[in-house]
Amino acid sequence: MAGREEQHVRVAVIGSGFGGLGAAVRLRRQGITDFVVLERADSVGGTWRDNSYPGCACDVPSHLYSFSFAPNPDWPRNFSGQPHIRAYLERVTDIFGLRPHLRFNSEVRHLRWNGDALHWEIETANGELTADVVVSATGPLSDPKVPDIPGLDSFPGKVFHSARWDHDYELRGKRVAMIGTGASAIQIVPAIQPEVERLTLFQRTPPWVLPRADRRISAVEKWLHTKVPATRAARRQLLWGIRELQVSAFTKRPDELGLIEFLARNHMKKAVKDPALRAALTPDYRIGCKRILLSNTYYPALARPNVDLVTSGLKEVRGNTLIGADGSEVEADAIVFGTGFHVTDMPIAQRVTGAKGTTLAEEWKDGMASLRGASAAGFPNFLTLIGPNTGLGNSSMILMIEAQLNYLADYLRQLDLLGEKTALSARPEAVEEWNRMIQERMKRTVWNTGGCDSWYLDANGRNTTAWPGTTGEFKRLTRQVDLAEYEVLRPKTGTAAAPVGASADARAEVAA
Ligand code: NAP
Repeated sequence: MAGREEQHVRVAVIGSGFGGLGAAVRLRRQGITDFVVLERADSVGGTWRDNSYPGCACDVPSHLYSFSFAPNPDWPRNFSGQPHIRAYLERVTDIFGLRPHLRFNSEVRHLRWNGDALHWEIETANGELTADVVVSATGPLSDPKVPDIPGLDSFPGKVFHSARWDHDYELRGKRVAMIGTGASAIQIVPAIQPEVERLTLFQRTPPWVLPRADRRISAVEKWLHTKVPATRAARRQLLWGIRELQVSAFTKRPDELGLIEFLARNHMKKAVKDPALRAALTPDYRIGCKRILLSNTYYPALARPNVDLVTSGLKEVRGNTLIGADGSEVEADAIVFGTGFHVTDMPIAQRVTGAKGTTLAEEWKDGMASLRGASAAGFPNFLTLIGPNTGLGNSSMILMIEAQLNYLADYLRQLDLLGEKTALSARPEAVEEWNRMIQERMKRTVWNTGGCDSWYLDANGRNTTAWPGTTGEFKRLTRQVDLAEYEVLRPKTGTAAAPVGASADARAEVAA
């Protein structure tokens, strides 16, 4: 790697969505300025840059779905739309002086751990560099998944994924097929239904949908939140507290969710008068097993005369004709895939080669597993934000990201104490123990027992995505790095003895 010395940084962050930008703020606050944020696109925002489909908004209230250290008194609605969230992230970038660290058009092609030099060799679309520590903030919802449908290549019309919306394509007056009924699709359907000629929705599994308590945030509220910050903080606390109280029903007592099913059925009944359509839209699994969706406009849109429901998946395409798994045939001018993302098989894992010379994808072939959602065994000084088992069913992922940023900050502090050229490598037994605890608790959760298939589960049926506890518990468990869970690596030998035990004494001993 020519010129490597000139291109060495203390930390390389991959991705500039909520996770990557949050990491950048945290690094600067820690006094670390020797870092870069590698971004494959030409602007920040991650999933909130890529998802610009009509109707795109967050279904977690904005005052909770934002950084605690960057409050925004001006959120326009309870559930603000994608343009506002994206603009918020641009503002965070400016306010915290992150621009000098950003490297746009720098898709990471490969990362390789150099066990002699104890650093990562990073190959990007825009050159090479090395870094002591890599923070992977690529996010679980970044790489669109399009199912392998026989004949799709033969389709003469327009095809795109919800996360790669083609705004130059005019949907007005077209026959559009929407594939999927997840959080993205149920926002797209009501947004495009009024303008398309015909909308055919391919529903493999009906979702549970609850009303969305959305409203404009008044000028008085905004004024109050600006002038009396305590009101803003109280609002956030309330939003957070309500969601923390809901967690036990998802993780320990799924039967309690039955009452919510009643509310969801009622919500559908109000908008859908046709009993046959209602029956087709009623899920047969416990609410919460898949993500609960919020919409006031989805059911009314499905009841409109220009909308057809196919109650099966898309199986095949023959020219302009789309064929459902139930044999139904529909003609379309455009296909929109709302078919989700590569979550349990995240593509970045194929590009990371660790200490044993194997990739993270190879190590994770039987399922993703990390210590405290961050460190995989055999991948020293490589931390993932929103890594395995950090996902939430009902609250704000920003809370989980901030908890992981505490962990990252302590990780870097520990490295400093241990000496300039050291690395931490998660002990396999610590990773195993953490995951044993998670899988044990997972057995009672609605995600594992609710009778559905979802993106929370991997190809082996293991839940490697969700966190089976409260955000408060995760925050406590990731406040500090426990050195007993890591092996300390030093240059040349590559595997010096680790300080066993997490005590301050042990750390001081190492530092000395
Ligand atoms: P998703 O939840 O993974 O949904 C994918 C959908 O595609 C499912 O309904 C799936 O059916 C369907 N599907 C896959 N292959 C199909 C086929 N061949 N024929 C018909 N249907 C097919 O993806 P998403 O909607 O993009 O959402 C992903 C996640 O992003 C969400 O869970 C949420 O965390 C986040 N998100 C949040 C918001 C928000 O805040 N409002 C908005 C969008 C996304 P099955 O159910 O049968 O598998």
